[in-house]
Amino acid sequence: MLIREQVALAPFTTLGVGGPARYFVETHGEAEVIEAVEFTRSRQLPLFVLGGGSNLVVADKGFAGLVLKVAISGSSSFTPPHENVIFTSGAGVNWDTLVAQTVDANCAGLECLSGIPGTVGGIPVQNVGAYGQEVSQTIREVRVLDLQTLEVRTFSNAECGFAYRASIFNTTQRDRYIILQVSFALRRNGKPNVRYADLQKFFASRTGNPTLAEVRAAVREIRHRKAMLIVPGDEDARSAGSFFKNPIMPQSFFEELLARLESRGLQLPGYPANEGFRKVPAAWLVEHAGFTKGYSKGAAGISRRHALAIVNRGGASAADIIALKDEIQAGVLNEFGIELQPEPVLVGF
Ligand SMILES: Cc1cc2nc3c(=O)[nH]c(=O)nc-3n(C[C@H](O)[C@H](O)[C@H](O)COP(=O)(O)OP(=O)(O)OC[C@H]3O[C@@H](n4cnc5c(N)ncnc54)[C@H](O)[C@@H]3O)c2cc1C
Repeated sequence: MLIREQVALAPFTTLGVGGPARYFVETHGEAEVIEAVEFTRSRQLPLFVLGGGSNLVVADKGFAGLVLKVAISGSSSFTPPHENVIFTSGAGVNWDTLVAQTVDANCAGLECLSGIPGTVGGIPVQNVGAYGQEVSQTIREVRVLDLQTLEVRTFSNAECGFAYRASIFNTTQRDRYIILQVSFALRRNGKPNVRYADLQKFFASRTGNPTLAEVRAAVREIRHRKAMLIVPGDEDARSAGSFFKNPIMPQSFFEELLARLESRGLQLPGYPANEGFRKVPAAWLVEHAGFTKGYSKGAAGISRRHALAIVNRGGASAADIIALKDEIQAGVLNEFGIELQPEPVLVGF
């Protein structure tokens, strides 16, 4: 295990901003993860666990502790009698590589999550979701290292406390566990999920049901159009994905706002959330607060193809990104009385 010093973190993130890690280590197995944690204990250093860096904004001053990159590889699958197919992957495996393997094996459940950057270990953290699927629907177990006891344990799906963009790993038990391995229960020869509007539109002119592989290709194509697929050189894809969560509000607040906006000729979209709550698209709020696609503030900007993606147009600092985030949050608060919550994790601030 090689612990390096003063390692630039920007290249380990999709947004490409931020300063160095005081210490940096890549861990390829569970024993190395424990060894790295012990290194932080012996020097009383803060620890940050890094996956694919696709949901992060790292501060310009960097991180004054150990950044532990989880690089545990390996994937396998087996089919217990009369059950779903179980896919198990190391936390360091590239997420989209795993999705491709499951689709190639004609197993349904992850196809709509094609093209999302990051690692297998990163996806349970915010219960990654897109195009009508969330990983909480198929995660079977999550194997973790408990940083309080240094013991390895396995959580069932129910124990992960999944909700919209949330799990115990980013709420009640934040920073307590390092995810080592994740397993999924998928349906062999299952039908793909094409309930999401964008996908239905994509396949509208087609007769017969699309295959899993076709849905995977469609999702990647739709993502590409929105610059939500990372393509080298595509400046609109130099982001941390959607920068704000879709706000969930009490029905009464929603109705009041709806009426107020109707009198201004605006139709506020809203979708059912938990009972008595509505979810409103953050992208609509951002655009109607005056932050249109392509908006720029120095080297930071809003993607020309997606209103929720803050992008690094080249040479942006973390401070530039945060200044734009603050401006958007203040604009939406002023216009609609809603405080947008950032989706990416802020590191070293
Ligand atoms: C272009 C683009 C499109 C995106 N589209 C979507 C989308 O459609 N839906 C969606 O939900 N997200 C999306 N994202 C966000 C992001 O890809 C996901 O949140 C992804 O799962 C993050 O994984 P990561 O490995 O990159 O985690 P990182 O960014 O490295 O880390 C994110 C958080 O997870 C923690 N973490 C990472 N690995 C581990 C581990 N092994 N153990 C414990 N904690 C860990 C980190 O400490 C940090 O708190 C998108 C991002 C980009 C750049």
